Amino acid sequence: MNKLIRIAQPCIGDAEIRAVEESLRSGMLAQGTTVALFEDKFAEYCNCKYAIAVNSGTSALHSALFACGVCEDDKVVTTPFTFVATANAILMLGAKPIFVDINETTLNINLDRIEESIVTDVKAILAVDLFGLIHDVEEVNRAANAYNLRIIEDACQSHGAEYCGLRAGTLGHVGCFSFYATKNITTGEGGMVTTNDESICEAVMRYRHHGQNHAMSYEYVHLGYNYRMTEMEAAIGIEQLKRLDSFVEKRIRNAEMYNNGLADVRGIITPAVKNNYKHVFNQYTVRITDEFRLSREKLAIHLREKGIETAIYYPKPLHLHKHFMELGYNEGDFPVAEQASRQVLSLPVHPLVSEENIEYIIASIKEVS
Ligand SMILES: *Cc1c(COP(=O)(O)O)cnc(C)c1O
Repeated sequence: MNKLIRIAQPCIGDAEIRAVEESLRSGMLAQGTTVALFEDKFAEYCNCKYAIAVNSGTSALHSALFACGVCEDDKVVTTPFTFVATANAILMLGAKPIFVDINETTLNINLDRIEESIVTDVKAILAVDLFGLIHDVEEVNRAANAYNLRIIEDACQSHGAEYCGLRAGTLGHVGCFSFYATKNITTGEGGMVTTNDESICEAVMRYRHHGQNHAMSYEYVHLGYNYRMTEMEAAIGIEQLKRLDSFVEKRIRNAEMYNNGLADVRGIITPAVKNNYKHVFNQYTVRITDEFRLSREKLAIHLREKGIETAIYYPKPLHLHKHFMELGYNEGDFPVAEQASRQVLSLPVHPLVSEENIEYIIASIKEVS
């Protein structure tokens, strides 16, 4: 147990390396047939009509929000307990994030009792599938239907997750994925937008290439960016996608071992697993309450000394960062998210974490419990 057990580690094999070499030798390096093939395979995996490759999860979110008609001064409802890219993408369009507190158990946005005053002139809901658990679909759909809002799904952490047999990325009008190195599958950097809506698909395709009307070269109909994916990234993505189900199964098995091993530890709350939801554990995140013998920080130091890397996702909810506070948010606005930030600790759960590793990590926690 001398080697550090990392919190995240990409699973790259010979197939990925060969695929990159092949595309490097092919003479076509960006937005070519390999990207198109990756898009087809990804749409097939998600069971949706269209998948459009982009160069990051952030650009997927930016493009998806644009394609849903979000523009300057619009409001978009989202969670304060997520990676910063979620809310930054809203700002990138000149729109305003309207934060709503999270559900205590799922840690996802809580739209159970959404007030009318909050949703007036809101354009869309940007719902995040945090840590690999799809957002609370019924509540989000109910709010969206009641107030006629678009749903954008931030599925950057939930490749392969399911709700009632429906795959992550297909639960709203448009889904956004990231293939950053710590995600369930990776292309180094990269992203994907998924949708069943042809007009959203076309808008994203224009947005990733400077607003070009894609039937007509060098004809631009609105502002766009260079969000294109490289052939090498797509080549890695095709190989990774073949392995996604096995990665997910291993993450779920690892999570089950933790759930069993930590069930009776006082002061540790293990992640909720809900009926009809397949949680894919991009992160295995427990909560350390006051009842635990050590503070969360001391536990993290203890584990680090044992060669176990942990992480805090996220140490501060978004509304308490400077550029969001300037929109008028304050400490105390979202008590559930603020408490989660003080309690969460993520343990290594990725496919390269072995059963012995998990047993060792559980024992190392119990040692100080
Ligand atoms: C990783 C992530 C993103 C951003 O993806 P990048 O590829 O890093 O741009 C957005 N939202 C969530 C929830 C993420 O985890």
